[in-house]
Amino acid sequence: MNKPILYENCLSTEKSRLKALNTILQWIQVPFKKNDSIGIKLHWGEIGNKNFLPPIYAREIVRWLKENNFNPFVFDNTVLYSGGRRDGKQSLKTAETHNYSQDYLGCPVKIGDGLDGKSVVDLPAGFKNFEKVQVGKIVHQADGFIIFSHFKGHMETGFGGAIKNISMGFASRAQKQRMHADAKPSLLEAKCVQCGECVAVCPTGAATMEENEYPSYDLDKCIGCAQCIAMCPETALKIIWETDIKIFQEKLVETAAAVWKIIKNKTVIINALLNIVAECDCLPGNHRSIAEDKGFIGAYHPVTADAESIKLVGADCINQAHRNIPWGRQFEYARQIGFDG
Ligand code: SF4
Ligand code: SF4
Repeated sequence: MNKPILYENCLSTEKSRLKALNTILQWIQVPFKKNDSIGIKLHWGEIGNKNFLPPIYAREIVRWLKENNFNPFVFDNTVLYSGGRRDGKQSLKTAETHNYSQDYLGCPVKIGDGLDGKSVVDLPAGFKNFEKVQVGKIVHQADGFIIFSHFKGHMETGFGGAIKNISMGFASRAQKQRMHADAKPSLLEAKCVQCGECVAVCPTGAATMEENEYPSYDLDKCIGCAQCIAMCPETALKIIWETDIKIFQEKLVETAAAVWKIIKNKTVIINALLNIVAECDCLPGNHRSIAEDKGFIGAYHPVTADAESIKLVGADCINQAHRNIPWGRQFEYARQIGFDG
């Protein structure tokens, strides 16, 4: 992990945050050419999420790219969940609601795997879990990328930063499912208030509930998307991992590594260590803060950027938020497969 990296701290004011981001932008040596189209990969937040990054930082990156004669656009892919980003049309509406709009940002807002989620392509991987991975065609449709990630906790990966933004972020819905397929719900009846939310959000009909009964989950129909677990207001659902939980961390890393092989010479990484909460921007709600704002990191490799982010936030902080997640396997496995900067 010896590629250059820059950390710029800030106070929790917008002025200080923008100043720190601009220091990172001035430092970056972009591998882009004049008039290149540059995709900014980011997450505009699930409907009802209160912790996603406000669009002002993306707008600043857009402004800086345009000033330097590049042609930016921002994008994200469709997801497995039945919330506000399941198809491209819904997702663009969600983006608009969160002010990630062309009007505000000053550049187009796109869906990386197409409005119907079918604009996808297979990439060779050659790893032990995935021979190939399927991602949005956007991977071949930009001259360069900025991976702009909100660093925070995550219930399945411990933390979410650049690795996850490249992996789940570029993955097609099918690839997301291939990664998630091992996480299924298990009910703690004592906590369940029979509200039916898990049934309402289940995209496959695997979760059902008879009147005055506890819900049940047909694990044959379950695609392991963990949406019910995420949406349960009583935390009455726990994840049962059908295989070793470390395998999920490996699958995440393999997908990121396959994408990285394609984009590594035309990509820079920016992690925003702001609003550091326990859970992902994929979940509705206002999540518990687990660390003070730290600032921004600029880097040329996602593993380097995430390792530095963990160092700044503190591994204990991530461990306390997600006690049973072996997130360290991501770094160990990245090293093992030569995806470590
Ligand atoms: S969402 Fe949670 S509390 Fe509501 S029915 Fe499902 S398991 Fe029970
Ligand atoms: S039961 Fe399975 S498919 Fe349905 S929401 Fe839960 S994890 Fe997803």
